[in-house]
Amino acid sequence: MKSRAQSFKPGSQETIFPDPGNDAYKLQHKLPEPSVCPTCGAAYHKGRWQWMTRPPGAAEVVCPACHRIADREPAGYLYIEGEFASRHRDELVQLLRHHEEHERTEHAMERIIAIDDESDKTVVTTTGVHLARNLGAALKTAFNGTLELKYGKDENLLRAYWRR
Ligand SMILES: [Zn+2]
Repeated sequence: MKSRAQSFKPGSQETIFPDPGNDAYKLQHKLPEPSVCPTCGAAYHKGRWQWMTRPPGAAEVVCPACHRIADREPAGYLYIEGEFASRHRDELVQLLRHHEEHERTEHAMERIIAIDDESDKTVVTTTGVHLARNLGAALKTAFNGTLELKYGKDENLLRAYWRR
């Protein structure tokens, strides 16, 4: 019998990657306060990341949103499909960008990572599950269509599907 584990050597220096959707980006609840993200300038203050003037003496810690963007590890996916959607693509994207801008002023960790066009759909990736859900809901409110939400088992991952 051939051993399936032959490529694995105990004690070797293999990098272990956390499973997508796990708590790797939330391990920061014991952050020093205040902290400031050197990438986006968000500050960690009173237990949450927010936009504020840089507090004096702040430690520098990359925030979870920038961490996800750097790793290209989204928490939320919004799939936009359908004939109406492809005909009105620019209008839809404009609405999503506007909505994101509004959202991130209140919730510093909720951001769009990318808007990618694939052959038959547009895929929007986000740093937080709430933004993906809210963007889907915004499309439904503005243009009707159907919205389906599929959460990962720990609710740290969301795939939203909007079709029209
Ligand atoms: Zn940041």
